[in-house]
Amino acid sequence: TESCLGAIEGSGALNAFVHKTPEIAMERARAADERLQTGDAPAMCGLPIGIKDLFCTKGVPGQAGSRILQGFVPEYESTVTQNLADAGAVMLGKLNMDEFAMGSSNETSVYGNAVNPWRRSGDDAQLTPGGSSGGSAAAVAADLCLAATGTDTGGSIRQPAAFTGTVGVKPTYGRCSRWGIVAFACSLDQAGPMTKSVRDSAIMLGAMAGHDPKDSTSADLAVPDFEGMLTGDIKGKTIGIPREYRMEGMPAEIEKLWSDGADMLRDAGAKIVDISLPHTKYALPVYYVLAPAEASSNLARYDGVRYGHRAKLAQGDGINEMYEKTRAEGFGHEVQRRAMIGTYVLSAGFYDAYYNRARKVRTLIKRDFETVFADGVDAILAPATPSAAFGLGEMKDADPVQMYLNDVFTVTVNLAGLPGVTVPTGLDGQGLPLGLQVIGRPWEEGEMLNAAFALE
Ligand code: GLN
Repeated sequence: TESCLGAIEGSGALNAFVHKTPEIAMERARAADERLQTGDAPAMCGLPIGIKDLFCTKGVPGQAGSRILQGFVPEYESTVTQNLADAGAVMLGKLNMDEFAMGSSNETSVYGNAVNPWRRSGDDAQLTPGGSSGGSAAAVAADLCLAATGTDTGGSIRQPAAFTGTVGVKPTYGRCSRWGIVAFACSLDQAGPMTKSVRDSAIMLGAMAGHDPKDSTSADLAVPDFEGMLTGDIKGKTIGIPREYRMEGMPAEIEKLWSDGADMLRDAGAKIVDISLPHTKYALPVYYVLAPAEASSNLARYDGVRYGHRAKLAQGDGINEMYEKTRAEGFGHEVQRRAMIGTYVLSAGFYDAYYNRARKVRTLIKRDFETVFADGVDAILAPATPSAAFGLGEMKDADPVQMYLNDVFTVTVNLAGLPGVTVPTGLDGQGLPLGLQVIGRPWEEGEMLNAAFALE
């Protein structure tokens, strides 16, 4: 813990930790020492970790990367961070992220962007660590902590993991409680671990997961021993390669990474089969209707009264002016854009054409996966991202849809409620890490992690 706190002190240039909690860390580290002495050491006893700013942690400021939550100090602890504390993990502080988890580069954060510790060979340009869990990815990659929490609504754990050479897991929807995590899109959000290795992810997921009566979508299922399932033995398993993920214009190095990954699994004794997920092409548009719709509803609670920031009002301003001014000052552009899209697709005249249509297509996307799993596929191998980390500021003037295209391989998993893991498997021509994604059957994170383990 002391060595991590020291590393964090010297890591300002990465802008990964946005609130440090050294007192809490040292207190928990001492308690962990005592537990280790008495031989009663839980799974993560004394392990120093970072927490994405989206998780409420009692008495520690949390802003979800937004100005509108300036000054907000939660009076409660999220279930996931409580579970981690109960497992002995030591919180070092809160990590940078895109505002309300909306983004793929950590550039929508009120704190300014986090920076990827990786550089292209022979080039000093700063790169994005990805988003929205960019601070978590940067901190783990730069050894500021042993692991971090992330959240994934459309790829926010798996994409930054791919950009930083780390492992990131999006569990089955309902595996980890959402209670106490600032909501983005409730039917898609899941918390998960971001770590240096598949084994670390298995241990940390076990500590985070579990049924929680405070979240009605949390599954009442026992948490398996994920670490114990990492045998590396995948003989006889069927791994599907979805042909629709072979997108036009896919860079040759991603294609090679993907086929090398399939070869590795085949060499380890798995059966590699070609599969079809025919509704894949609708996933991005469906996600960018449903996620903003749910977000616009969730963002309605930021009204200048209940939490955080309130704009200065002029004489004679009423409640509508208070909402307008507070939200205009408190929400960044991307959040405002999502609120407008969401309100539009939910509005009386357009609800059927957009929101309801998207929900129906979501069901078709989910059925695509159910069909291949029913045909005997144990896990699916796909790219995690269409490219390696891109430069900070590179997408600034681009059409927002360009940024949304980053999520092309990840959003299907959230729409279908499935588990997915990114595992680093290679470098691009400029020395940057690239990751592959393993998608598992629902509730079979253990098998999925074991396939990822075989790729590591
Ligand atoms: N990049 C996606 C978005 O901006 C996903 C974000 C996430 O998973 N939280 O919505």
